[in-house]
Amino acid sequence: MKHLILVFTITLIAAISRGQTNHHSLSIQFDIPHSFIDVTDTISIENQGANAFLLNSNLVVYESSVPLTKIEQINNYTKYEFDGLPASSTFIIKYKGVVDHNKKALSNKAGHNSFQGTNGIVFEKGIYLAGTTYWVPDFVGSDLKTFSVETRLPDDWKLVSQAKTRYIKSGVSENKISIDMNHPTNQVCLIGNKYERYSRRINDIDINIYLFKSDDRLAERYFQVSGRYLDLFSNLIGDFPYEKFDVVENFWETGYGLPSFTLLGKKVMRFPWILNSSYPHEMLHNYWGNSVYVDDEKGNWSEGLTTYMADFLIKELENEGANYRRSQLKNYTDYVNNENDFPVCDFKFKTDMTSQAIGYGKVLFINHMLRQKLGTSTFVETYKTFYKNYKFKRATFSDIQKTFEAVTGDDLNNFFQQWVYETGAPKLDLKNVDVQKEGNSFTLNFELRQSGLKKAFDMEVPFHVYLQGEDRVVRKTAALQQLSQVFSYRFPKQPIRIEIDPCFDVMRILAPEEVPPALSKLFGSKAWTIILPKSSDFFEAYKTFAGDWSSMYSRRGVKVNIVNDTEIQKLPVNQSVWILGSDNRYADNCDLTGVYGSSVSPELVQSIDEIYETETLVYAIQSSSGNQVVGHINVSNPESLGALKTKLMHYGKYSYLGFSGAEQRNTIKGMFPVLNSPLNYTITNNQKADWGSFEMPEKELLVR
Ligand SMILES: [Zn+2]
Repeated sequence: MKHLILVFTITLIAAISRGQTNHHSLSIQFDIPHSFIDVTDTISIENQGANAFLLNSNLVVYESSVPLTKIEQINNYTKYEFDGLPASSTFIIKYKGVVDHNKKALSNKAGHNSFQGTNGIVFEKGIYLAGTTYWVPDFVGSDLKTFSVETRLPDDWKLVSQAKTRYIKSGVSENKISIDMNHPTNQVCLIGNKYERYSRRINDIDINIYLFKSDDRLAERYFQVSGRYLDLFSNLIGDFPYEKFDVVENFWETGYGLPSFTLLGKKVMRFPWILNSSYPHEMLHNYWGNSVYVDDEKGNWSEGLTTYMADFLIKELENEGANYRRSQLKNYTDYVNNENDFPVCDFKFKTDMTSQAIGYGKVLFINHMLRQKLGTSTFVETYKTFYKNYKFKRATFSDIQKTFEAVTGDDLNNFFQQWVYETGAPKLDLKNVDVQKEGNSFTLNFELRQSGLKKAFDMEVPFHVYLQGEDRVVRKTAALQQLSQVFSYRFPKQPIRIEIDPCFDVMRILAPEEVPPALSKLFGSKAWTIILPKSSDFFEAYKTFAGDWSSMYSRRGVKVNIVNDTEIQKLPVNQSVWILGSDNRYADNCDLTGVYGSSVSPELVQSIDEIYETETLVYAIQSSSGNQVVGHINVSNPESLGALKTKLMHYGKYSYLGFSGAEQRNTIKGMFPVLNSPLNYTITNNQKADWGSFEMPEKELLVR
């Protein structure tokens, strides 16, 4: 009892000094072998009007300093109501029980590589307690909370939470552990395990890597990239919101971004590409989603913004921004239709490709269009302000709009209304292009249409104009407001070509011709024909390769037909066709130089030619004999095929790939240009001009 009063007093002082509306002072006893926890929660609320909370149904409230009634069980949690609680008060609730969701599945797996997760568990393989566990009373309709934790664990265990953990040796093999989370947060996370910890201070932030087994090289890889990302993000948005950032190995495969730490599965954290994809993404979530919190009921803006400022930013720095945006538009085009579309304000989290295309892709474009409309520096300044104003608070799309309007003085209601609260996106068509000479100048006329819509979008569509005798492309913006609208522009020199939205800067449905051929197109089909070169010296090797592919992919439901080039009269249609070997009778259908010779740089043509002669070259191409994508594989050493057969599927997004050496290391990769976009129009008869050699307008980067 004495102990209780002590806790009571300390918490009360803490609550007042913090000035928060909701503070949980948690004293926890773990019984790890029995998956059992016993919690004393001293709760302080201020002006809350709270009358109910939810708690995990396995946990039983056995003592409360205020009258409580158990109301009902909803899924895995139980609702309790207070019988008249003052708006501001401090009270104690004690509860205990077993937390072992999915224990059987997680225990059966050897090692730490299960994809089966848990809502919350305490057992020998680890502790996972988070918001989804409902292990801390969650006030219905309440705001954020602060918390502190006091507990004891065996001294070979470490505990990770949203704030630093302090360990004090107590007893022979036990530590007393305390955590103080002073920033308002949306959940209480405790991740425990027998971790090896690596720590380094980088840019005034403590970076900690928690691993199940010591692995200096892995930890070093994370340290190496952390400084760069901390720099990028603090320049772009503001100081990192937490004093530490932890990379924590998890006992099932996850890629979670939580406040001040990321929880990565054993396999996930060792994939080399994670370091420049998921890792910066999860780190940036500390700003968007994990310090400026999402109000779930009003739409999750944080995924699209995080993807824009992490994943996209990295691509933009690699000069791959336009390709990245095109792939986002392609996802939207492929996965969203009138039946499954919803406005981004209804997005909560990703459940499938459709929700990803809307919640990540479309929100990314909303941000990109705001940046195009207002300029990069205003865009960056607005999000710096947004971060400053909403750090450790909940924010909505409407708060983003208000911040943009406050910074710019513009009325952005139409913009936000059509992109955030309504569905759809236009498909653009270019029609009726012509040029009139008037005195010493030229007038370019063209019509833009928005198809597939009842109501027109109001949008600013960038376009490029190539002028006779000019090396540099002129970039302009058409203010499109109607379903069909005619535009006229005067130029001092003769326009010879126009390209509508060539860099994929606006949210829209793509035409199929705007997407260059990629291997994914071939891998995506459920029927394949593989054509073998009967007269080739490598015939047997290609045949073995085709047989291996056939058994690999038929297990995935692909119907694979293998034929010799002597056995067919023409290319099969309506399926994936792979043409193996340069001496294949059908290799003429893969004439790279004929198709792309004038539209890619001479250097690329030369290096592709060299690889074709001396190494392994694989590419997807629009066949010259028909309107179909075919794949071509040519090796200079038949032994390469063994290593190649499992590799290619990981490179689906590329048009062409080079490989070399016994392990078939990737040497070049890329996308061919789009040749027949319906949004490009060449005005002169000079169809074969080398458009790629024109100088593009300067573009401002998000960060330097
Ligand atoms: Zn995310």
